[in-house]
Amino acid sequence: MEGTLAQIRNLLVDMDGVLYRGHSALGGAAAFIAFIQERGINYLLVTNNSTLTPEQFHERLAGMGMQVPPARIMTSGVATAAYLATQAPPGTRVNVVGEAALIHELEKQGFVMGGRESRYVVVGWDKTLTFDKLATATLAIRAGATFIGTNPDKTYPLESDIIPGAGSILAALVAATDVEPLVVGKPEPLALQLALRQLGARPEETAILGDRLETDVLGGQRAGLKTIMVLTGISTAEEAAAFARPPDWLFADLPALQAAWEQTLAG
Ligand SMILES: [Mg+2]
Repeated sequence: MEGTLAQIRNLLVDMDGVLYRGHSALGGAAAFIAFIQERGINYLLVTNNSTLTPEQFHERLAGMGMQVPPARIMTSGVATAAYLATQAPPGTRVNVVGEAALIHELEKQGFVMGGRESRYVVVGWDKTLTFDKLATATLAIRAGATFIGTNPDKTYPLESDIIPGAGSILAALVAATDVEPLVVGKPEPLALQLALRQLGARPEETAILGDRLETDVLGGQRAGLKTIMVLTGISTAEEAAAFARPPDWLFADLPALQAAWEQTLAG
């Protein structure tokens, strides 16, 4: 491993499986957030989940004892809307398969919700998915609309079950259209590049902290970041060791990471 934790000036923090799981905070999460804030580490919480707004995530975290301003929370919905704003002017019609939070972010950028005549189809996680939504999106993509996905996660882990994620909805539309989407969220580079730009961060002084090899760690590696993995979420230590390029640091949980970090800062 190159370098030490003490060299990290900027930190991108995944949320699900790192700070909480389902509706329960993970041990040490509030203390860890306080630690990076007190140490002046420039941070952004980065999540592939597009079904809540930053304000709603702020509330949810506050309920678990973590005080994080909405401006420090970037969802894949925020990143997708920001990306689209670089591609198309306000007023452009967008067909959305997704929930209210995603529509809210797109409308904030001036986009107008549309049907099969839309120039863009934006697809996120949608727990109110219907056949009609899939059919309209299919017709728009077949008519030439640009197909964009917020995030590729095929599944979503609940406390004890695994249910379909946004990637499963993308797969249905790929099957229906033979078109592959442009995906914004981890491990694709767009959302992480946007996060770095927002922080004014250089990749070599930045780490990503996550629980999932194929999104957090792979995405961080592609963006040239240091990678820190905790074992409180999806991926296991065995999977990390067998991964094409293992994470730079691996910790059982946030208290173990914080202890190591404090030690390198003291030493
Ligand atoms: Mg996660």
